[in-house]
Amino acid sequence: MRQADGAGPAHAEALAEDVIIWASLNGLLVGAGDELRPRAAIHAPLSVLPVPFPRASFEKAKAAMRIFNKLIDRVSRDGAYLEATLQAASEFDDFTARLLQIYNATDDWRQQRLSEQLVLAINRSDYMLDEPSSTLMQVELNTIASSFGCLSTQVCKLHRYIVERAGQPELVLSNLPENDVTSHLADAIGTAVAEFGDPGAAVLFIVQPNERNSYDQQWLQYAMWERHKVRAVRRTLAQVAQQGSLDVGGALSVAGQRIAVCYYRAGYAPTDYPSEQEWSAREMMERSTAAQCPSVPYQLAGAKKIQQDLAGSDTVERFVDSAEEAALIRACFAGLWSLDNPDNPETQDVLQQADMQPDDYVLKPQREGGGNNLYGDQLQQRLRDPKGLAAYILMQRIRPPINRSMLLRDGNILEVDTLSELGIYGTFVGRGDTVILNAEAGHLIRTKAATSDEGGVAAGFAVLDSPYLS
Ligand code: ADP
Ligand code: MG
Ligand code: MG
Repeated sequence: MRQADGAGPAHAEALAEDVIIWASLNGLLVGAGDELRPRAAIHAPLSVLPVPFPRASFEKAKAAMRIFNKLIDRVSRDGAYLEATLQAASEFDDFTARLLQIYNATDDWRQQRLSEQLVLAINRSDYMLDEPSSTLMQVELNTIASSFGCLSTQVCKLHRYIVERAGQPELVLSNLPENDVTSHLADAIGTAVAEFGDPGAAVLFIVQPNERNSYDQQWLQYAMWERHKVRAVRRTLAQVAQQGSLDVGGALSVAGQRIAVCYYRAGYAPTDYPSEQEWSAREMMERSTAAQCPSVPYQLAGAKKIQQDLAGSDTVERFVDSAEEAALIRACFAGLWSLDNPDNPETQDVLQQADMQPDDYVLKPQREGGGNNLYGDQLQQRLRDPKGLAAYILMQRIRPPINRSMLLRDGNILEVDTLSELGIYGTFVGRGDTVILNAEAGHLIRTKAATSDEGGVAAGFAVLDSPYLS
């Protein structure tokens, strides 16, 4: 379905050219990464045509999103649960330990603000289809820096254009679902800013220096302005350390600009905190009246260790409202195992299994951003050393169906066997215990070569795609 059937390389090149031009004209861009011309842009890594995806699984993932939003919000409020669950991992993982330390250092402030603190979450729950079991399985849930929402909106428009205008007679437009992540994210931020109540306050985008994915972020800034007349200021954590301050009531300003929302597109990786000043900036913001997207407890609630623990018996049930809700999200949990106690007989069993069949598992540390998991031989070697295994979780390897795709990266077209990962965005705004907004906010498909273990677009493994529902 995804090949330029029988039309040969000349047709593929012509199609690629159409895609590149549309992408350039419609802001489907990333930074070119050219040191001499730091503002130069290039089309985002893309799939030329949409990828087949079963409609029922797609709808199931969408239906689960509002429950995941609620679940994560409640987990983030249960400090005792977060601490107990992350305790063993934090003994061997300095990054998790540091986040927990900030959590504890700011707890007095949190307790004081319990009924009035503004909450804004932009989550993304990621899934792959597992072909052997014919089920949709959750890969992970992201609570920080869930990216590519705005570029995904553009990819869906691109694929509609290509299917209709460039003539793909075997594909019909009605199987390409609408997708407006950009408006949803802008509206959630707009709602939080309105709730903050200071019309002059801006949104602080916490960014990495030399960010290549800045166009995805700029789309959001643009939509915030167009739809809500809300301004954004962009700063690195180091700049916030230098220019940020709190007044006695905890109101945050950066270079004199009052801030309603801190939106983190950085701060998820240890490398985002090269010195103590970045950590002190994070702690200062956590101690402010501005909504933190995400707060430290929300970031902790998105840890892979929490995902694994929630899948354990009766845990999810504690946090949602009904058995039906629990069942809906449980249906997409893959096999997940704690490595907190390597001597535990159940852990011994799975370690033995993984040693015999390492390709059936993925070993995951408490990290975000792609490129951190262990597979195959590396997984086997790491599991043979019991020391510090609590820093990881072990996960069933999901086996998605293989498609044939034309991928476009840096202007070059490549036809390969591929796997795809679906992401569903969720937005949430609350004040204290009151829920102001809880929405499913659109989707993302990332497609990667079937030979690649990892899947990040920014990390260079995958391209942006869209679903062709069947
Ligand atoms: P990160 O937070 O770094 O994105 P992920 O859990 O999403 O971590 O893992 C990165 C990538 O590894 C995913 O996008 C996916 O391609 C692959 N992956 C992760 N877990 C599994 C799994 N259980 N089965 C198969 N592939 C997986
Ligand atoms: Mg992640
Ligand atoms: Mg991921």
